[in-house]
Amino acid sequence: MKYVVIAEAYEKIEATTKRLEMTDLLVGLLENTPKKIIDKVVYLTQGKIHPDFVDLEIGIAEKLAIKALARASGIKESEIEENLKKTGDIGEAAQKFIADKRQVTFFQQSLTVQRVYGTLDKMAKASGSGAVDLKMALLAGLLADAAPKEAKYIMRTVTGNLRLGIADMTVLDALATAYGGGKENRGYLERAYNVSSDLGRVARIVAEKGLEGVKKFEISVGEPVRPMLCERLSSPEEILEKLGGKCIAEYKYDGERIQAHKKGGEVALFSRRLENISGQYPDAVKLLKKYVQAKDAILEAECVAVDPDTGEMKPFQELMHRRRKYGIEKAMEEYPVSLFMFDALYVDGKDLTLRPYPVRRRALEEAIEESDRLKIAKYMVTGDVKELEKFFLEAIEDGCEGLVCKSVAEDSVYQAGARGWLWIKYKRDYKSEMTDTVDLVLVGAFHGRGKRAGTYGAFLLAAYNPDNDAFETVTKCGTGFTDEDLAKLPRIMKKHAIPHKHSRVQSMVEADVWFEPATVIEVLGAEITLSPIHTCAMNNVRKGSGLAIRFPRFTGNYRLDKSAEDATTTMEIVEMYRNQLKRISES
Ligand code: ATP
Repeated sequence: MKYVVIAEAYEKIEATTKRLEMTDLLVGLLENTPKKIIDKVVYLTQGKIHPDFVDLEIGIAEKLAIKALARASGIKESEIEENLKKTGDIGEAAQKFIADKRQVTFFQQSLTVQRVYGTLDKMAKASGSGAVDLKMALLAGLLADAAPKEAKYIMRTVTGNLRLGIADMTVLDALATAYGGGKENRGYLERAYNVSSDLGRVARIVAEKGLEGVKKFEISVGEPVRPMLCERLSSPEEILEKLGGKCIAEYKYDGERIQAHKKGGEVALFSRRLENISGQYPDAVKLLKKYVQAKDAILEAECVAVDPDTGEMKPFQELMHRRRKYGIEKAMEEYPVSLFMFDALYVDGKDLTLRPYPVRRRALEEAIEESDRLKIAKYMVTGDVKELEKFFLEAIEDGCEGLVCKSVAEDSVYQAGARGWLWIKYKRDYKSEMTDTVDLVLVGAFHGRGKRAGTYGAFLLAAYNPDNDAFETVTKCGTGFTDEDLAKLPRIMKKHAIPHKHSRVQSMVEADVWFEPATVIEVLGAEITLSPIHTCAMNNVRKGSGLAIRFPRFTGNYRLDKSAEDATTTMEIVEMYRNQLKRISES
């Protein structure tokens, strides 16, 4: 197939703004394309050479493109740059200068789609020291043989400026019309696309095997499935009603979604946007290699930053430290992650995307072995409003965003690429910051693990309630302590250690070690939330709930000047909570 056929189609597509007309032009182009290269033509029309999940980009910088054009046209770089300053379009520049050159050359090979595609692919794959020169030479070679119009589109493609405005759905419409028996069958093609994220593969199948082939389309390990997303409701009553009276409620972890593809000994991770992010999370890859028992699988998980010493979850922002190309080893040590698995789309030859959620969950449980760092998302099956609310508060307490409530009905399939009512998220509607520090009493501690083995991992902290002269727990804190703090704390706290909970301490949490209330430390948290397990201001703001401080961090200040009774009071915490709500409603 000649590349000029494509260039001419692009010219017409560019000239229209109407989607229907655009679709018709695309149908014409696809019908004129030999079936065995239809995938390549589809990628090219989107300005790519591979689907997005393949980590290969042509990525030619404008400077290099100018050099190549200068070499192919015999025009000075400075002249091309001058022209670009005026027009701003490297495609137009290529068209003009190649046209000027054409008048003086006689012999040219006409370009085929295969050659253009193959050369662009080589350019994308070029790496190492000679890569820049090689890319330039390859591009100059193409331009030298290109007709002016072809040069324009080649140039725009390699510099990432093709922008014909053809949406994925328009390509699917055109494919359904050209090969799938009509536009009304687009739904089948759409599903195939949603489970493969590969328009080229869908094109090839429908062109070669027709609609029947598309109907049999199966997901394939290595091709990311477009993620299923949630709708949102703001009360457990509405959620249960929408889900038919019963649901699987799961913790909504605050991390990054990953889709893990395991084939034999290899594991690849894809982000919510289908980018291959295996390089960011070598530790997650390792965990999956070790704990996924299935030979081949596509599983979904939330990847969450955790405190390496206490095992506590950290807020999403911490994962930002993992977004880097270099120094990943160090970042991995400082910001380790845990995986919370929540779906199985494919296990050992079985495509599970059309099976109900309880079936997929069972498959997930069978496919993995749980460990400290790789677990199934915490969940409960319930039809009870109160239970759901309580579970929600527990989730917040544990550092999660809330819950994802999932349908357990027969039709609870994996809706790839869709936001639907089979999953409903229940989040707090607000986010706010705690501005003041609080002074809290150490009333208990938990044994440390890892680097903190032999010392404390975290402390149970309480506020003081003068009304009943009690210390009411408000948070568990393991962050902000230096190695030095940790080394000396067991020694310092030894004199306050007691074999059981102190009579003035009110706690529903079981600590490993209990202290008499004596030591006060300064803490800053992210916000104050309702909590079913902390006793601070229990039943004061809401029946059955106390208040808790989320994501607490020790500021480094030991308040040696304060006795336990001088600590922040429960009423002060209630006040801070109310102010926080006020700030939210005002903002
Ligand atoms: P948000 O910003 O609320 O995460 P979103 O648009 O990214 O919204 P939603 O579909 O609204 O995505 O929420 C689902 C997201 O929640 C998933 O993409 C996933 O990253 C995360 N998540 C955490 N825990 C779970 C879970 N148990 N089941 C499903 N998704 C979960």
